Amino acid sequence: MSQHFDLIAIGGGSGGLATARRASIHGARAAVIESARLGGTCVNVGCVPKKVMWQASEAAEMLRRASDYGFQSVEPSVDWPLLKRRRDAYIERLNGIYQRNLDKDGVTLFRGHGRFLDARTLEVGGERLTADHIVIATGGKPRWPSVPGAELGLDSDGFFAMEQRPERVAVVGAGYIAVELAGVLAGLGSDTSLVVRHHSPLRGFDAMLQQGLVEALPQHGVEVVSQFIPAAISGRPGELRLEAGDGRALERLDAVIWAIGRDANTDDLGLEQAGVGTDAYGNIPVDQWQATNVPGVYALGDITGQVPLTPVAIAAGRRLSDRLFGGMPERRLEYHCIPTVVFSHPPIGTVGLTEEEARAVHGNAVAVFSTSFVAMHYALSEHKIRTHMKLVTVGDEQRIVGAHIMGVGADEMLQGFAVAVRMGARKADFDDTVAIHPTSAEEMVTMT
Ligand code: FAD
Ligand code: NDP
Repeated sequence: MSQHFDLIAIGGGSGGLATARRASIHGARAAVIESARLGGTCVNVGCVPKKVMWQASEAAEMLRRASDYGFQSVEPSVDWPLLKRRRDAYIERLNGIYQRNLDKDGVTLFRGHGRFLDARTLEVGGERLTADHIVIATGGKPRWPSVPGAELGLDSDGFFAMEQRPERVAVVGAGYIAVELAGVLAGLGSDTSLVVRHHSPLRGFDAMLQQGLVEALPQHGVEVVSQFIPAAISGRPGELRLEAGDGRALERLDAVIWAIGRDANTDDLGLEQAGVGTDAYGNIPVDQWQATNVPGVYALGDITGQVPLTPVAIAAGRRLSDRLFGGMPERRLEYHCIPTVVFSHPPIGTVGLTEEEARAVHGNAVAVFSTSFVAMHYALSEHKIRTHMKLVTVGDEQRIVGAHIMGVGADEMLQGFAVAVRMGARKADFDDTVAIHPTSAEEMVTMT
């Protein structure tokens, strides 16, 4: 005898939880299947522990700079095991809150690995479940390279499990995770190398941000090792050796962290039984309504390979349930103009088109406004990291299609500007907005 639901989400991460809770709020019978801890990647091994570590690293920076303001000089020393214990306890509390939220909204939770038996039937822990609508929200997992000795390294999950701070560490990769983990480790006192295959990290980002980051990383204590293609790791912890194809090597490493991307999590999901297709990268393709190739089966979040960010998974899930159960037939997520922050030191905030993308589409109709300055944050400091800002506009009316910021406060600054960009603000609207002084943000409305 199987239990029947209106909707079942496979995966109790950002997307699955949001979908099921919204469905239930609309009166649907909803369930979630989760094989690990509630909250998924973001809560357990992603955004949340990462942000805690970033804040710890920022705190260390503040302590180092406090002497600029007349405080006694200190070289901060972090108690890593204590920091980890407190971080883990915080996450455990969040796990509990997620459970209580499901209970409050009347969502049934099944613990275990879910797999399709057919397009309407799932199996979890020997139990059969059927649903009118099944949502695949199984997320992703860290990608590992296939080089000899790769297993001597760690992935980002392994970073969060570290019981001690590595004295000397190489972070391999050029995306969000590599940049963020390298910054955290350097800020907390580790001798850190960021190992990239090409010239710079964050290659898909606006050139101003890439350049700004390449300048800022060494100022923050991260050595950027460029054009280094890892070929092998050998040795043992404390004595690891990361070797490049061209013979260069980084030696005496306590840890090597792989941050070279993430793969779709479709292991043993029974997609073939349901007839659900995947693309060349293993992601599950969906249309604009989050629908897969099989009617009644949807996918959202990282598993789709589209903009792998927590708020994107949540927004896609909530809109899907609004459409299926909330009487909102046109509700869907538009995947453009999604703001995002890289928690580097200082952070990067970006929304819309890069200058390069805008020029490729709009050619000479593009006008760009930019500025670079030292924020008042560093007013009394010897050690100054520059802030960079850019607005990308299109057409005679100078409609803003991209906003890019790197500097202290960029993480908190961007959200409001993203609203304006999404609403179709023109450069004149920014110019007409009275500045808030003295802030860095005021430069966004005073660029000429
Ligand atoms: P997930 O959150 O990964 O959830 C999938 C869930 O499905 C998991 O709990 C998994 O256990 C479960 N599962 C998988 N297969 C099965 C199965 N067969 N049966 C039952 N359960 C299953 N995004 C941001 O927006 N901001 C950030 O600052 C940020 N920082 C990040 C830092 C790191 C280090 C990482 C790795 C990611 C970060 N992200 C960040 C990305 C963010 O975590 C993901 O985009 C988000 O978690 C995706 O949500 P999801 O629901 O698609 O998948
Ligand atoms: P990304 O896709 O962002 O970056 C991985 C990069 O690593 C690639 O772009 C590539 O850059 C480089 N790379 C790939 N293969 C290799 C290799 N074999 N050797 C060396 N370098 C390699 O992946 P991440 O894992 O960093 O993050 C996954 C996603 O999670 C992000 O895209 C983001 O959406 C999300 N995330 C969001 C965060 C946030 O919002 N702050 C934080 C963390 C993650 P290149 O081609 O230039 O070498």
